[in-house]
Amino acid sequence: MFNKILIANRGEIALRVLRACREMGIASVAVHSTADAEAMHVRLADESVCIGPPSARDSYLNMPAIISAALVTGAEAIHPGYGFLSENAAFAEMVEAHKLVFIGPSPLHIRMMGDKITAKTTMAELGVPLVPGSPGELVSLEDARDVAERIKYPVLIKAAAGGGGRGMKVARSREELDAAWREARAEALAAFGNNAVYMEKYLDKPRHIELQILADNHGEVVHIGERDCSLQRRHQKVLEEAGSPAISPAQRDALGQTATQALKRFGYRNAGTLEFLYQDGQFAFIEMNTRLQVEHPVSEMISGLDLVREQIRIAAGERLGYGQSDIHFSGHAIECRINAEDPDSFAPSPGKVVMFHPPGGLGVRVDSALYAGYSVPPYYDSLIAKLITHGRTRGEAIARMRRALTEFVVTGIKTTIPLHQKILENPEFVAGDYTIHWLERFAGGK
Ligand code: ADP
Repeated sequence: MFNKILIANRGEIALRVLRACREMGIASVAVHSTADAEAMHVRLADESVCIGPPSARDSYLNMPAIISAALVTGAEAIHPGYGFLSENAAFAEMVEAHKLVFIGPSPLHIRMMGDKITAKTTMAELGVPLVPGSPGELVSLEDARDVAERIKYPVLIKAAAGGGGRGMKVARSREELDAAWREARAEALAAFGNNAVYMEKYLDKPRHIELQILADNHGEVVHIGERDCSLQRRHQKVLEEAGSPAISPAQRDALGQTATQALKRFGYRNAGTLEFLYQDGQFAFIEMNTRLQVEHPVSEMISGLDLVREQIRIAAGERLGYGQSDIHFSGHAIECRINAEDPDSFAPSPGKVVMFHPPGGLGVRVDSALYAGYSVPPYYDSLIAKLITHGRTRGEAIARMRRALTEFVVTGIKTTIPLHQKILENPEFVAGDYTIHWLERFAGGK
């Protein structure tokens, strides 16, 4: 096992990794920008290194600075968290080239799944069903027209290098296709430096259901159940649940078997998530995330597994030591992502936190790096807390979430707590009756 791990991230996820390290008796090294000198992850880590000025490009994305920090502190492995460098194959290669361990999959697998066209063709070859669409990159507008005629409108043009919902445009008719083609390519080029796009059928009422996977270096691959992440605004997740209110244990088992067999043949290692759209009883793969996800706690709550601990054990070469039949799910979990944003306009609301009182009690978990007196910097993601509740039933998890949201006090900045309160009171949400388009109608997300 490692003696020391560097955490190449900030905020709640840096704390999340740090907590697993501490429980495992592993020393932690925090890295931070000058804007984060007072951040909680810096305060709680055993050591810390300043790696650059506030802009993420010069700090949390500064690969040489992060590698140097690992080398000078004697860290043996680097955990990238999510976002920043977590899906950067060049970084994983650089880590390995310096005889350090990247806590994640191989650079090859990161690269293959990072290109969504390669990801789809690879998964199709491995027997995973896909959303109908173009066989590969769209080479021209004519090509896009041909594919759209074949799969029928509405269609979605998506960036091959996509992420965060960027470079994605819907065309409902032939007339809309030209603009969608141009806009998707321009947005993809601006966001990812790559204008390659592909096409999918635009599904009108799907749910986003994803499967958490763990794979060790010895050929064991298990799934930790599904998460329903259909509540999204601008293709960004807002609230997640495990399991999905829409699928049965038998459907979970069948999907799990397809996915674990595919990843076994692929030779995947560490944690990963296969994302699917689910409509009319069918699952269709859209992408794979080769990292820990923001919403991983809901899977932890229903399985009792510490996914970060498992990632670290796998990276150290340990065997999982259990198989699928040893994993049992208990109850239901919900996560609300709380952002420093105006709950109506969604405008960012950075600034000084005056009061911070997180909720507690049975079945309540708060993953947050906030504290009273802390200033939320304007430079990074607006996620400030994840509130997770667990109950024996979905109804119990909902009741606990409502109760916890009323206890949660954050003053000085605006937060999306009121939005979550509205969602949790909605009869359609309570009935589990929603698709990926539901929240945009409910909260106005266009
Ligand atoms: P990104 O990597 O940018 O997050 P994804 O491929 O994961 O992109 O898609 C993000 C979200 O966009 C999905 O969760 C879903 O809500 C929506 N979406 C993606 N593909 C389709 C599709 N073919 N039809 C309808 N909605 C889609």
